[in-house]
Amino acid sequence: MGPKSVVLVTVDCLRADHVGFGGYGRPTTPFLDSLAKESFVFPAALVAGAPTYYSFPAILASRSPLAFGRDIIGLAPGEVTLASALKLAGYATAAFSAANPYISSRFGYDQGFDVFRDLLDYGGMDPGTAPNGNSSASGRTRWNGLLHNATRRLKPAAWLYDELYFQYCQRWALPAAQSLDSLRRFPAADVIVDQARSWLASVGQQPFFLWLHFMDPHAPYYPTEKALQMMGDGNLSPYRARYLNAFWLRHDLEARRLRRHRDQVIALYDAGIRWVDAQIARLIESLRRFGLWENCILAFTADHGEEFLDHGGRFHPPSGLMEEIIRVPLLLRVPRVAKKELSESAFSLVDLVPTVITAADVQPAARFRGRSRWEQIQRGAVCDEPAIVECVAGCTNPFHPGQGRLGARVLAVRDARYKLVMEFGSGQERLYDLATDPREQSPLPAGAEKPVLRRLLECAREHMEKIRQQRDPDAVLRARLSELRLEWAQPVNPSATAGF
Ligand SMILES: [Zn+2]
Repeated sequence: MGPKSVVLVTVDCLRADHVGFGGYGRPTTPFLDSLAKESFVFPAALVAGAPTYYSFPAILASRSPLAFGRDIIGLAPGEVTLASALKLAGYATAAFSAANPYISSRFGYDQGFDVFRDLLDYGGMDPGTAPNGNSSASGRTRWNGLLHNATRRLKPAAWLYDELYFQYCQRWALPAAQSLDSLRRFPAADVIVDQARSWLASVGQQPFFLWLHFMDPHAPYYPTEKALQMMGDGNLSPYRARYLNAFWLRHDLEARRLRRHRDQVIALYDAGIRWVDAQIARLIESLRRFGLWENCILAFTADHGEEFLDHGGRFHPPSGLMEEIIRVPLLLRVPRVAKKELSESAFSLVDLVPTVITAADVQPAARFRGRSRWEQIQRGAVCDEPAIVECVAGCTNPFHPGQGRLGARVLAVRDARYKLVMEFGSGQERLYDLATDPREQSPLPAGAEKPVLRRLLECAREHMEKIRQQRDPDAVLRARLSELRLEWAQPVNPSATAGF
């Protein structure tokens, strides 16, 4: 048999502890759990950055997110990716992605693909007008505005006003929520899989690379009705789902009060995962039917996790690099290779591309920055080095370089047991012992575990040195020029892209 085909599935916002093969108690991934019996399951797979725009340079191009400098988002023109390496090796290549602008052609993610559909023009809602149900200030009448301002002087009055206004908007002012489908902001996984199946029907016996990106667990959480039923949550109506999403967006409530509906918000999120699982089952059924599955690698992972008040936050802002954000599921199915249980060592997604390429028996024309761990994985080991995760604190909408991209770096170094988080802006450091404190509730006191701290600090220093050496001025210049051209050609509305 020749080189193996590769299917890469990435899911936005999928935490490692919400999949069955990662130990979750709810039935979010029955199909993937069955596939896990013949796959390598990584107990501690870590993204190289978060959120989306700091994670994908590693997932597709095996490059640390800030290696080109904090002002570059996305891939540089000509940067070698999994797609371009496999295309050079004679693969047919295609990508179908559920309308996340940060991994669109604008940011260079179409490179190396024969077919690239980011579905940004799919008939979904305009992100700027999506009915998130937020009781926005722009919707207030003049009277309401005066009342809102007047109540700010007294805390109980402000609280009462905010609560009444929110309930008024949800119960009376908004039009009736017809269906979950009408509220959804992104194409659901079945749409992506339908397109992928049509393309697969055309590849014949040529080796292929297929990348699918799903947004079903991304906020606002509007799963399909069928997925809610599969999860036993069919009683959550479209009205209730809209109410919960709007409630979850409120900025006037403390975590203590938000917690009231946390479980139901998670039920919506979980149903999104269940839908992805069901659609992957359909995809693999097609691969089997076309006779392609027996020579096909499947890598299933996520670009980052999601917070549900674990540390008081929601969604997935780039900030503290806590486990709920940086630890993702990773399942690697390689045909004709016996599964082994893997050690608890950290595995960085920066090593995923070279590992997959080696497992596929392809000799890439160019070297990647990450390293192939394929040999170790087949022996049941993962990696002997700590993984590095980094982001720019507070950069929640990087569409324009001047807005947020130049904030301070946050960097985490994590091995199987310890994790050091360094916030360069404040100079703060937190060291956690994940064996005794897996939820990162209390950092170790200053001065504790000095040899561990020294070792992790040394890794951080080596990482900074390495990315300085690897910095490719030509690529940086190409990326910057490409971005400037796009800014001039298609000005964007920054508010329409915040929060991915
Ligand atoms: Zn994302």
